[in-house]
Amino acid sequence: MSKLTFPILQRLADGQFHSGEALAKHFKVTRATIFNALAHAQTLGVALFSVRGRGYKLPQPMIFLNQDAVLQSIGEQREWFHVLVLDELPSTNTYLMQLASKGAAHVTCVATHLQTHGKGRRGRTWVSQLGASLTFSLLWRFQCGASALSGLSLAIGVALIRAFEDLGLQHAQLKWPNDVLVDGKKLAGILIELQGDMEGPSAAVIGVGINLNLPKEVLNSIDQPAIDLANVNNGQLVNPNMVLGTVLKHIANCLQQFEQDGFAGLRDEWLRHHAYNQQAVRLLMPNGVETHGVVQGVAEDGILLVETAFGLQRFSAGEISLRGAS
Ligand code: ATP
Repeated sequence: MSKLTFPILQRLADGQFHSGEALAKHFKVTRATIFNALAHAQTLGVALFSVRGRGYKLPQPMIFLNQDAVLQSIGEQREWFHVLVLDELPSTNTYLMQLASKGAAHVTCVATHLQTHGKGRRGRTWVSQLGASLTFSLLWRFQCGASALSGLSLAIGVALIRAFEDLGLQHAQLKWPNDVLVDGKKLAGILIELQGDMEGPSAAVIGVGINLNLPKEVLNSIDQPAIDLANVNNGQLVNPNMVLGTVLKHIANCLQQFEQDGFAGLRDEWLRHHAYNQQAVRLLMPNGVETHGVVQGVAEDGILLVETAFGLQRFSAGEISLRGAS
């Protein structure tokens, strides 16, 4: 990894041509060093035009995450937050879990331009790309123990719905336990990891991945229908700083509500946005068994209630994936 790759890309972010000579002069290195650093960018999935006599250019302008811009988007509550923006990380959750165990402050957020080994539940992968995805994690410390945090991941789903509404996207929905869908396709995923005692105190690392403007071939490579914000925004460039600031503000508000009333206080709002309420579904168990039934809502601890051939059954989030019946 060249140390210069990200600084050069930030210089190219305006979408204009920059000559190798001008870049070399700016960074006080040789043109070969610039060439090598940009060759590395291409291995990270960045499309780059290189034209003899004109230089290098990104196909379109790219907005990089920037700590001040994120804090500005958070608004009045910005003082609660410690925001770190890093160029590249394997996983923001793994990194923040490590920081948390070394005593990182309540309401620390780690965001990265490039997450190389994004995690989903049960060892699955979260796909993201430089300049096309928002990937971050937030540390929230609770007085209560981990055993009192059931429903937390559903509460974060409500926060994302509120944030997307704030950003002008009115028809996002939730899929139990916490995926965000638009037109039945996955726009965002949430992965929560916990630290601490069952009796308390505890800490949650809340990881969120949001698709901003993934290339078609990347969207198509995902093994379930996926969509990005640019798609629902008429192809317009999405500002990741504004998205991150808005999402963080709503997560903090929801978590305060959650601390006070648990998921019970957010349940009705969650249900209003559930894509599968009263719908026939399949529930996929890790051992390959499928259960069919009709969704009857969720309990006050986030457990999914499904009317099956054996009566009303309760499913907890840990191991199960929900799919439409067809
Ligand atoms: P499911 O989505 O099947 O109910 P899950 O909630 O366990 O399961 P997550 O752990 O949230 O899924 O996310 C991992 C899954 O999401 C991957 O297995 C893949 O199907 C899908 N996925 C991975 N990257 C993306 C992405 N960028 N956009 C949309 N979906 C993705």
